[in-house]
Amino acid sequence: MWEDVFNALLQYERNNQRNQTQLNSALERFNLATSAMPDGLVILSASNEIEWCTPNAERQLGLNLTTDKSLPIVNLIRESHFIAYLYNGEYDEPFKLKSWRNAEMILEIKLVPFANNLKLLLCRDMTQLEKVEVMRRDFIANVSHELRTPLTVVGGFLETLTDMEGAVPENLKHYFAMMEEQTIRMRRIIEDLLTLSTIESNSEIPDNNVIDMHSLLKSVQNDALGLSQGLNKTKHKIHLNVDAALNLNGAQEELRSAFSNLVSNAIRYTPNGGEIFISWALRGDQPVFSVRDTGIGIEQKHIDRLAERFYRVDRSRSRETGGTGLGLSIVKHILIRHQAKLEISSELGVGSTFSAVFPKARIVRKPAPL
Ligand code: ADP
Repeated sequence: MWEDVFNALLQYERNNQRNQTQLNSALERFNLATSAMPDGLVILSASNEIEWCTPNAERQLGLNLTTDKSLPIVNLIRESHFIAYLYNGEYDEPFKLKSWRNAEMILEIKLVPFANNLKLLLCRDMTQLEKVEVMRRDFIANVSHELRTPLTVVGGFLETLTDMEGAVPENLKHYFAMMEEQTIRMRRIIEDLLTLSTIESNSEIPDNNVIDMHSLLKSVQNDALGLSQGLNKTKHKIHLNVDAALNLNGAQEELRSAFSNLVSNAIRYTPNGGEIFISWALRGDQPVFSVRDTGIGIEQKHIDRLAERFYRVDRSRSRETGGTGLGLSIVKHILIRHQAKLEISSELGVGSTFSAVFPKARIVRKPAPL
């Protein structure tokens, strides 16, 4: 009887040992795999303390698991933007962090919530990619800058010649008008490229002024009326609906340019007699600027690509109405700088709505008049 008992015990012990060895080797393989990952991984507890991290995370973020385990991550990464990102709770977009240990190093950080309030912090070394990106931006900025002067000279002479009585023979006037039109177009593209590269390369936080949205949007509406009359004989109907108690914290000139771009697109892509609805109001707890038009609309397949540089659904229409294909890229970058998102919904032949959704932290409430 005892023999049976001991045999069963021995069997049990062996199974246990085998399970233990399998578990150990699985854990070791897991550790080896995570260590081999080029990206760094950190597991944060519900109260943002470091529970575990990989050697690459130690290297990239300057952590040391042995001494830093159970310490709050904000004690070790004290960068204010990182702390804001961590507590903001909106982790859809990754976040770029300049390494404070090595000024050359740029990290991309992404937080992924999992299980019960735990967070996975993923960090990736973006230094090389960022260098290429800076080179691209500088190249575009330099080329645009270099092209601006000769183009201004050519445009100036063309204008002078056209204005000079008898300088251009009657049968050539048509060609001169075309040349002038094309120089203006090139100038517009260059100006937009310069604006885009200035905004893109400006990593500073934009000025934070309280913007009086009612007066800003009123003037955007007035500009829009001017543009609408210029383009068509029949004006568009441009409605404005503003929550007067709601103001916004941001860089006024940048945001004016973004809003004007969206409104001017609505006019340019809406046939004569159409309607444009500009609105500024709360959606839930987020302030939203939106422009709805009853224009030509956009097929669904184009929508995700609209904010790419030079992406146009219909090149000839864009060109006819003075488009450069850069407007929405500029809008997108201005919004990113304000932690806002561009939302586009559209139906072909029915119309489009472009909305800029701002974070609630940017709301400034206007006190009610006494
Ligand atoms: P563009 O200078 O060509 O207007 P944008 O970057 O401003 O460049 O817009 C990109 C493309 O998105 C446009 O060429 C057009 O096809 C489309 N688009 C933008 N706004 C609208 C709108 N309100 N209605 C229809 N299409 C639009």
